[in-house]
Amino acid sequence: MIRQTTDPRHQTDGRGTGALRAALAAATEDTLIYDLDGIGRQYAALCAELPGVAVRFAMKACPVDEVLDHLARLGSGFDAAGPQEIAQALRTGVAPELIHYGNTVKSDRNIAEAYRLGVRDFATDSLEDVAAIAEHAPGSRVFCRLATTGEGALWGLSHKFGCSPEDAPRVLDAARTCGLVPSGLSVHVGSQQMTAEAWGAAVESLAAVLEAVNRRGIVPNRINLGGGLPALGVLDRHGRPLEPPLDKMFAVIREGMDRLRAVNAAPLEFLLEPGRHLVADHGAIRAHVARLSSRRRLDGTREDWLYLSCGKFNGLYEMDQLQYRLEFPTHPGGRFVDAVVAGPTCDSDDAYAQEDGLVRVPRAVASGDPVWIHSCGAYSTAYATRGFNGFVPLPYTCVGGPAPDGGRA
Ligand SMILES: *Cc1c(COP(=O)(O)O)cnc(C)c1O
Repeated sequence: MIRQTTDPRHQTDGRGTGALRAALAAATEDTLIYDLDGIGRQYAALCAELPGVAVRFAMKACPVDEVLDHLARLGSGFDAAGPQEIAQALRTGVAPELIHYGNTVKSDRNIAEAYRLGVRDFATDSLEDVAAIAEHAPGSRVFCRLATTGEGALWGLSHKFGCSPEDAPRVLDAARTCGLVPSGLSVHVGSQQMTAEAWGAAVESLAAVLEAVNRRGIVPNRINLGGGLPALGVLDRHGRPLEPPLDKMFAVIREGMDRLRAVNAAPLEFLLEPGRHLVADHGAIRAHVARLSSRRRLDGTREDWLYLSCGKFNGLYEMDQLQYRLEFPTHPGGRFVDAVVAGPTCDSDDAYAQEDGLVRVPRAVASGDPVWIHSCGAYSTAYATRGFNGFVPLPYTCVGGPAPDGGRA
């Protein structure tokens, strides 16, 4: 089950690094733990794979102040979805130029507020949104987001965002006409993208649109390759390891950048908006066993269920599409049962896939025993409900990062 790529910087067995494991072992109550040094190493590895690419961390994947502070300290900018995220990004001390408004969905008021906060980069995908940006954020730079199929991704993001390659020149043309700067193009190939081909297809689409807008005398200077880079330590909904071809993805992205540079009439800068990839494998939850129980179903078959203190509504929002590796530190060996894993609430969606998604659980686990849930650093905190069924969001702590006296002034 050891997951390896050829690059040792990407090695992970999905069970966290030393500092994270030590913090899990030390926790006596349920908590979510982020490993800032792990996140920092992931950021450095990404920058090494894609030299010269500017990172705008997609905040929604982990809107935790300490994580954002750490990334800002390392030089990252931010992809924000609205004024609240922009304000949170600014609290890290990052310059407004390193924050862009990456959400194509925004009200007039959202745009005006972002402009007031100093943001001048806006993603867009429609003439209506361009007109609103021109009115409420005059003179700003816009990126036109191209739709992608979302193929190959666990979450495709294909219908809600982006315009067709045919419409994109019209959108940038309209931006120019109303005094905005038609600064670039963007894509998002879908979250937890599992294929390198998705970036290849995105590059083809970007190249075609670059040629078309160049013909109209619009010469963008930036391309935003979006998010979508995968987590490595998570399992699919049936509990099989996901093995994204990360090295190949980076190779395709590097070749794609060369191709786009060759097409455009002026030099291009590249941006990337990773969310999940930077944080997923560097966060873990210490939860506990509520109960392991065995019941007969209506059809007479016996089924074992492992109920945890933590589930879809308080930390594991994505558990319907994937599985996180579980570790039972007080039961390293012994006999196992194959059980359905579920969270603590009265909602039947609060569970791993019930058919074909059974998990090996030590038969001896008892109520109260600790469970470590790995690779859940992405899309966990912010997706927790306010306390559905009274199960409040988990508290969190951070390990690693700068020494207490080494922080920013
Ligand atoms: C969510 C989002 C991202 C990050 O996606 P990941 O799959 O987590 O990398 C990047 N850009 C935009 C515009 C997004 O909405």
